[in-house]
Amino acid sequence: MTIYLDNNATTRPAPEVVAAMREMLEESWANPSSVHRAGQAARQRVELARQSVSRLLGCTPREIIFTSGATESIDLAIRGVLGAGPPDRKTIITTAIEHEAVRELCNSLVIGSLPSGIRVRSAPVRGDRSGVVDVGALEPLIDDSVALVSVQWANNETGAIQPIEQVGALCRARSGTNGEILFHTDATQWVGRMPTDVARLPIDLLSCSAHKFHGPKGAGALYARRGVRLRPTLRGTQELDRRGGTENTPGIVGMGVAADLARAWLEDASGREHIAELRDRFEAAVLAGVPDVRINGPTARAERLWNTTNIAFPRLEAEALLLLLSERGVCASAGAACSSGSLNPSPVLLAMGIPPEEAHGSLRFSLSLETTRAEMDEAARIVIESVARLRGSSRAVLT
Ligand code: PLP
Repeated sequence: MTIYLDNNATTRPAPEVVAAMREMLEESWANPSSVHRAGQAARQRVELARQSVSRLLGCTPREIIFTSGATESIDLAIRGVLGAGPPDRKTIITTAIEHEAVRELCNSLVIGSLPSGIRVRSAPVRGDRSGVVDVGALEPLIDDSVALVSVQWANNETGAIQPIEQVGALCRARSGTNGEILFHTDATQWVGRMPTDVARLPIDLLSCSAHKFHGPKGAGALYARRGVRLRPTLRGTQELDRRGGTENTPGIVGMGVAADLARAWLEDASGREHIAELRDRFEAAVLAGVPDVRINGPTARAERLWNTTNIAFPRLEAEALLLLLSERGVCASAGAACSSGSLNPSPVLLAMGIPPEEAHGSLRFSLSLETTRAEMDEAARIVIESVARLRGSSRAVLT
């Protein structure tokens, strides 16, 4: 038996998603830009999916731009705003705990834009190791040079929920007659897992990915509030001239079906409360069974997503533990998936104030709506035994 507790594997595409994608591949493969009947049939499926995604987010279908995933949505949001805005607004405010899709893009923009002057300011997190952004410290960073503030909705490594409503409200309050300060949120970890209603929040742009809510990989969306000006980063006539390239019709349709299923699941809060209880039970078992462990990130339920836990096993090498867990049928991850293969501790955990010896031995376990109590009890048992085994072998323990 394999127990999937890796954020990138636990969200298996739903059977309805697979069936709809298969149907697109086998029966409706025409290009939705073609005027013939087959093309228009594909167009209709794309537009139905757009409606489904807009209902999940709480916006209008025209405000949805389909992309290849959150990384591209983020790129379009950030570079698109900088490209369309006035030349004297070239500052981005973000945080040190963003996914690398935001962090690395911002770094590359600064390096690539000397001397054109793009500047990035990083808002700190609170000093309590929670990894929650300090809104009080972000506020003084906002001035008339700021084009965009980008803060994630929930953290991919710890599940920490960020005060995005406050940050968005600050952007609105500080927007002046000489231009708007736009607010973008990377909501990849949030959308499909928590109810979302962008129209009622001070959000101008939002990025998300289908595979985080049981849709396919390689499909995502950018919400751009009506009136927000973006310079396309991929040129072409598709997506109302905002994103060029023939649409990934199976991916888009799969995302639409996943959005409908997620919306139905989200109607009843007991589903997510049940999984949060399984997560808490797992944490309690590991804390009781392994000496010297810590939970990284906020501990208050209201400040963390129901599906994530990040546990520090100090002085242990995360990669060694991951491999042993994998051998025993538990798939977990160390920090962001992209860090696997590298022994560097997660920059997000370090930015949260977690000491390197703890960050180095930290693992993330992600649950999904499919996770069962039996799986979590078994996973806790395997984690406890594996840590004991590794701690008994000096090779895997950092000194
Ligand atoms: N942002 C966050 C918070 C994520 O967790 C991820 C992926 O895990 C991304 C962005 C990038 O998403 P994608 O790989 O679908 O482009």
